[in-house]
Amino acid sequence: RIPHLGWVRMREALRFSGKILSATISRVADRWFASITVDTQDLTHLPKAENQGAVGVDLGVSALATLSTGEVITGPKAHAALLKRLRRLSRSLSRKQKGSANSKKARARLARLHARIANIRQDALHQLTTGLTRRFPVIGIEDLNVAGMMKNRRLARSIADMGFFEFRRQLDYKSEMRGGEVVVADRWFASSKTCSCCGQVRESLPLAVRTWTCPDCQTRHDRDGNAAINLKHYAVSSTVSACGGEGAGPGGNARVKPAPSKQEVSKKLPMGSFG
Ligand SMILES: [Zn+2]
Repeated sequence: RIPHLGWVRMREALRFSGKILSATISRVADRWFASITVDTQDLTHLPKAENQGAVGVDLGVSALATLSTGEVITGPKAHAALLKRLRRLSRSLSRKQKGSANSKKARARLARLHARIANIRQDALHQLTTGLTRRFPVIGIEDLNVAGMMKNRRLARSIADMGFFEFRRQLDYKSEMRGGEVVVADRWFASSKTCSCCGQVRESLPLAVRTWTCPDCQTRHDRDGNAAINLKHYAVSSTVSACGGEGAGPGGNARVKPAPSKQEVSKKLPMGSFG
């Protein structure tokens, strides 16, 4: 029962048991939502992450994400597919007389399309973050300077399309629910420019270069795949020292995040010793 409104039917049952504290009603396009706050102890409803070790995730422009396992997850390209309709609807709206019934109808149609695009994007992100946190107890990602990247016009569209901030937010809370850990490499970590095989760091690697060969060890790299492997190495080495294993200095139980150096990045650690 909602004050001033009366009784409303809920589309789905409440998924948590506990004391209901409050509800917030919101509207997106022509749909209404109730978000309900429940005081509950039940935070462990998700099973622990599978023991598939660590993974590095490189978020990209051409693909939504590239994993250190070699998997490439392509994005839904929501905008590309629906952009044409979006343009047509906006044009149609601008031709309608303001305040008229037809203008209201056109506005509602446009709002529905915007909501649909947002839903497609959200769905792809949720599938990606659920899959990652379900499989891997340790996930290494890059700390993206999104503000800086948005200034680059070529990148702006795909970043807005895919929502990196949202990716990070989902990964953090889902991983915590499953007892996993998200390790964020700092902004200056050269995930793309470092050879994941020998640790050699290149001076520069323009964005247009999608594959390259290491001058030191002759390994041929896919740009995104190589970055993902480096992020995995980073995550592995920082979890080892955080657990007080090798590399933990006299600092005791303080969380140690080693500065990424060639040696640490290229160090091969046994898989399966985590989680
Ligand atoms: Zn190399």
